Amino acid sequence: MSELTGRILDPTSPGWEAARHNFKAAVDYSTLVPKKIVFCQDAQDVCNAVRWARENKVPLRARSGRHSYEAYSLVADGLIVDVSELDMIRIDAAKGTGRIGAGVYTLDLHEQLYDVGLTIPAASGASVGFAGLALGGGFGVTSRKYGLTCDNVIGVELVNAQGELIYANAEQNADLYWAHRGGGGGNFGIVTAFDVTVHPIGFVAVCIITWRWQDFIPVVTAFQNWGPTAPDTLSTFMRLAVGDTHQDGVITLFGQLTPNSPSELAGFTALLAPMLAAAAPTGVNVQLMPYSAAAAVFAGVDPTKPEWLVHPHNDTQLFKSTSAVAYKPFPPEAIALLKAQMETAPLQTFWDTNEPSMVQLLAGGGAPSRVPVDGTAVMHRNAVFVVQYDAYWTDPADGDAAIAWIEGVRTSMLPYANHAYVNYVDHYIEDYLDAYYGPNLPKLVEVKRTYDPENFFNFPQSIPTALPPKR
Ligand SMILES: Cc1cc2nc3c(=O)[nH]c(=O)nc-3n(C[C@H](O)[C@H](O)[C@H](O)COP(=O)(O)OP(=O)(O)OC[C@H]3O[C@@H](n4cnc5c(N)ncnc54)[C@H](O)[C@@H]3O)c2cc1C
Repeated sequence: MSELTGRILDPTSPGWEAARHNFKAAVDYSTLVPKKIVFCQDAQDVCNAVRWARENKVPLRARSGRHSYEAYSLVADGLIVDVSELDMIRIDAAKGTGRIGAGVYTLDLHEQLYDVGLTIPAASGASVGFAGLALGGGFGVTSRKYGLTCDNVIGVELVNAQGELIYANAEQNADLYWAHRGGGGGNFGIVTAFDVTVHPIGFVAVCIITWRWQDFIPVVTAFQNWGPTAPDTLSTFMRLAVGDTHQDGVITLFGQLTPNSPSELAGFTALLAPMLAAAAPTGVNVQLMPYSAAAAVFAGVDPTKPEWLVHPHNDTQLFKSTSAVAYKPFPPEAIALLKAQMETAPLQTFWDTNEPSMVQLLAGGGAPSRVPVDGTAVMHRNAVFVVQYDAYWTDPADGDAAIAWIEGVRTSMLPYANHAYVNYVDHYIEDYLDAYYGPNLPKLVEVKRTYDPENFFNFPQSIPTALPPKR
């Protein structure tokens, strides 16, 4: 019989409560209680965990940064194989490559790579795990220049369903390598490390521009024609956040220019001209800063108060997030509909302490759009923008209304933005396999059948071993 190895916690262990909670707070943690959590210290601990779970017929989930929108990295009465302590980063600067442990948090990654003048596109959320991020695609504010996170993965070390350590890249297990770039976490094995390409980075320019809610239509219209066609060096997203009177929401454009040369920085304001002309902004903030500082800005972390490093999982939130993809700019009626839908947000008990509920438009185009739709498992290569729908609340009693509202916004916009980004898993999406994978689903199912025919790695929206019947 196999033994569990690593740092093993069970319900009697000190630190159990903190260890079993994820970022998502809107979960019934009274019933979602695992049997054990093993914080793996090396790849052998992961192999032992998989074998132990098989032999003891215990359900298992892999966990890295705990940010799954549906807490799919937890399972009741099961084993959580937590890779967050596999947090090594090794760089070969001369070759422009590196090895990143599956549990590295993204802000750590940005900061540590920046210390040697390098980066890899990765999420803004401070403690998003590299494994969950890269396996589903992954984008950040350097993505239009350097691609999605997964576009920079050149090899994957993982533990398969038999508990063996294997490697997948363009030469070995090439189909598995393909699936690990966008197929989503938790489907094929437990990744222990990623081999990646890294890129030079130095100072960047960050813009934060705000407009009045009444300028929604001209500003969104200008953004969707501008952001996705901007030079690759500029990654942008627009946040449309509802206000407490439904008329005082705020429109914010966030952008980062990652220049190819310092002289390009001088042209940043000229690049912004179409947006500044769309309607009179209420605030324009353009700043030059080291990339590590920009990463902290986008993560919402104050670099002078690095408490998150001590308690990276204190940032739990009551929220419901979901997504869709727009393959064409919104026609005028869609922009008007989006505004009207947002203005129906339910009032909440503690509105003043809530994060504002919002819709974010993440500009497509650039390097990710030059990878073929079937080049990796990420199908959304032709996105004009990815739409992220987010509802937040503070009083648990407000949850149902907030969820119903954001689901209503998403579904009403389906004629204009459909499919979904697998890293924004959403159990409300009925046809989720088509929504996440579209034309890449048959190949993903084939890979699943080849490497995990018993469906050992499974969760509510995992890739099955056979194609579902056509609807
Ligand atoms: C605050 C916040 C900010 C975000 N910002 C961005 C962003 O800027 N860009 C972006 O693209 N996405 C972003 N996301 C979405 C994020 O990419 C996904 O939530 C991602 O799945 C989180 O990965 P994780 O490792 O943190 O989560 P986890 O909950 O640990 O894991 C997510 C999924 O991956 C599986 N998994 C975890 N580790 C492994 C492993 N080692 N091997 C195999 N499977 C594994 C889990 O079982 C689970 O199914 C954000 C999410 C949040 C909550």
